[in-house]
Amino acid sequence: MTISEQQIPDRLKQVTNRIEQVCRQHQQSHPTLLAVSKTRSISEIREMYQLGVTQFGENYLQESLEKQQQLIDCDICWHFIGPIQSNKTRSIAEKFQWVHSVDRLKLANRLSNQRPPQLPELNICLQVNIDNESSKSGFSANEVVDAAKAIAQLPRLRLRGLMCIPEPRDNTHDQRQPFAKMQQLLKQINQQLSANIPPLDSLSMGMSSDIEAAVAEGSTIVRVGTALFGPRSTQSSTT
Ligand SMILES: *Cc1c(COP(=O)(O)O)cnc(C)c1O
Repeated sequence: MTISEQQIPDRLKQVTNRIEQVCRQHQQSHPTLLAVSKTRSISEIREMYQLGVTQFGENYLQESLEKQQQLIDCDICWHFIGPIQSNKTRSIAEKFQWVHSVDRLKLANRLSNQRPPQLPELNICLQVNIDNESSKSGFSANEVVDAAKAIAQLPRLRLRGLMCIPEPRDNTHDQRQPFAKMQQLLKQINQQLSANIPPLDSLSMGMSSDIEAAVAEGSTIVRVGTALFGPRSTQSSTT
């Protein structure tokens, strides 16, 4: 066993303690822990799975499809959280239960058309560029309400909520501001959805460095990589 593998149980305990404490402090319900497993080995993922984590998030399609093959014996719910090229939507529609990074209408249309009819509806979140950064993708806060109303009508998708990756801020107080805006946007969308559409129930927000701020503002899914698995040795995979 490598050193990083030995640390996984302790890291998981630390992360769940962080979440537990802030839930208690702010009377929030427990978010789902999504383990972000990009660049992590099969044995690291298996170890996490054996500790009870069943939701895994991946950013790179080819890497992820290979891992899914090798982990076919595990009952894992796979989430796609990375940037999406339009010509890759078919595999995403076929192989994932959730997609968090839908950032344009065209992608939603393609995912809906390509979701196999024998599978349940594909759960999706719309990515919001909450700090209006030119380097980041996502709907602007102004666009996302109308986009959500349109996407919620697509037949093979279930629009679950919103996702964001805010600009880094160095303290919890400042980190809470963009997450509070996300909560407002979710409410606004739910007020405007037609009555036959189930309300959006998900906010995918909070990473290793801002879990507390996100949970304090009502995150329902935290996406955690480094704090669970240790530092990533490579910034991105080759796929
Ligand atoms: C890598 C990644 C994460 C996890 O980031 P950490 O800082 O390692 O916790 C979460 N969300 C997305 C979209 C990512 O790409």
